[in-house]
Amino acid sequence: MSTDYNNMYQKIFKIMGDLTPLKADCGKLCSQACCKGDENTGMRLFPFEESELPVKILDNGVRLVVCDGKCDRTKRPLACRIFPFFPTVDERGKVFVEPDFRGARLCPLISHSDEIIFDKRFFNALKKVGKILAKDEACLEFLREATEEIDTYKDFLM
Ligand code: SF4
Ligand code: SF4
Repeated sequence: MSTDYNNMYQKIFKIMGDLTPLKADCGKLCSQACCKGDENTGMRLFPFEESELPVKILDNGVRLVVCDGKCDRTKRPLACRIFPFFPTVDERGKVFVEPDFRGARLCPLISHSDEIIFDKRFFNALKKVGKILAKDEACLEFLREATEEIDTYKDFLM
């Protein structure tokens, strides 16, 4: 059965709700370092994820939401809702939630993760989201590729 992506992302956004890694606004720690995009950088859309924000398509087909550092929060893409964590997968498709080391230089939540008390509800929600994504072939492949990249950054940094 083919995936109804619109429905799937609506469900996913509902699960994430207003949850963020901290109960407080982490943007105060770093002057919102992850929202300093320009026309050449952006947050990658997940497979078949649509966005009402401006989208740039790179030569390799990657779709990025580009913003000037401000957006209507209700319209931000999934990548912004889950940063700086990511639902990684192992070779059998089992889902974990790990720091997204691709953002390690940018985000103090990764570099200071030992000292921070996170909101467990965020991680539970992200795990649920990961399990939904892993059921779809295209999304599972996307999670696999991202996991590989995250592992490469992790090996490099640790
Ligand atoms: S860079 Fe990290 S700490 Fe700063 S706003 Fe983004 S997620 Fe929060
Ligand atoms: S889309 Fe919104 S949440 Fe995402 S980086 Fe841009 S301003 Fe930040």
